[in-house]
Amino acid sequence: MQLNIKADRLWQNLMDIARIGGTARGGCDRQALTDLDIEGRALFASWCKPFGFDITYDAIGNMFARMNGRDATLPPLVIGSHLDTQPTGGKFDGVLGVLAGLEVMRVLSENDLVPKRPVEVACWMNEEGARFAPAMMGSGVFAGMLGLEEIRASKDRDKVSVGEELDRHGYGGMPHPTDKIIHSYLELHIEQGPVLEQEDKTIGIVTGAQGIRWYDISISGQEVHAGPFPMAMRRDPVAALPTLLQGVRDIGTIDTHARATIGQLNASPGSRNVVPGEVSLTVDLRHPNEDTLTEMHRSLEALLERLQRDFAELDIRSNLIWHSPVVAFDPTLIDAVRNGVASHGYSHLDLVSGAGHDALMVARKVPTTMIFIPCRDGLSHNEAEHTEPCQVEAGANVLLSAACDILGLSRA
Ligand SMILES: [Zn+2]
Repeated sequence: MQLNIKADRLWQNLMDIARIGGTARGGCDRQALTDLDIEGRALFASWCKPFGFDITYDAIGNMFARMNGRDATLPPLVIGSHLDTQPTGGKFDGVLGVLAGLEVMRVLSENDLVPKRPVEVACWMNEEGARFAPAMMGSGVFAGMLGLEEIRASKDRDKVSVGEELDRHGYGGMPHPTDKIIHSYLELHIEQGPVLEQEDKTIGIVTGAQGIRWYDISISGQEVHAGPFPMAMRRDPVAALPTLLQGVRDIGTIDTHARATIGQLNASPGSRNVVPGEVSLTVDLRHPNEDTLTEMHRSLEALLERLQRDFAELDIRSNLIWHSPVVAFDPTLIDAVRNGVASHGYSHLDLVSGAGHDALMVARKVPTTMIFIPCRDGLSHNEAEHTEPCQVEAGANVLLSAACDILGLSRA
């Protein structure tokens, strides 16, 4: 007999917690460390109580619910995500991963399946980065990628700091996040993109995440009057744009995994009858393979050098402002997910994550992987975000199977 999650209970929990910060258009506004966020956490804790799952916190406000194993000295398998949302967020982004983790622990507990190692559900603090920047704060500090003190100093629009809010909610005196030792990490999440739906697949087996490189590019020339100045005598930065824009597009089409985006494009001073003195733009390059991403980086450099030669009257500068390396998830955990998908007979597709997730931070520290389920029209960070009850059920069942596999529990 296959062990399954209780789909109705999980769905009801998702709908119940969505009322906390629920918006008129059916979405959710439960931003990190607000009173609503704390209220959501309290509801989660109330669901843990009947099962005797202990709740603990750390000094960055990460919250953990623990199901004891037979050997308390072993580091736990952690399943999690986040309960905070965007200001106009949906009901599923993050929340699904936390509540599905809880569902896994409840089912194990109800079936008297006590693993050797403990299991915990993590609610990472401020994944969204909507109220406080940067995103993935709690998991970032846990993984040692972000410093606790520097993050405590981050302020929201009203000049309230993370530190003040952590202290107000009583998290300030808790243990340092990097002290926590865990065995491995699983996260179920909506895809936040259209691929699974388009391919009509139930489960995304996530093998890793794209590497990202961000550039600021500027092309300087000379501001002159749009009328009297002959074209041939101008130092017009716009002259270099067609080659540059097409070149960046071409870098994004070297294979189907590559992405190249020009998200900002600005001419200054921005007057209709002035030849701009400067054009500035941003380039975002992504690829799931680090070597290919490096190759894309070199192509961009070569493109800019070629442009500088062809347009000697202009000054072309490029600045790499951020590089997030490719994340490869753990092969053993990916296999555990694969086995779970196979045992349920769900249709599936291998994917790489295009968005940021707590799992990407945690993966820098311990073996990690993710499971995706489809969301309607690929919409997320949107009040209309939706995923079907049967899709939630499938994702949580795979999560349960993978957890059993990792814990050495028979799924029979
Ligand atoms: Zn999320």
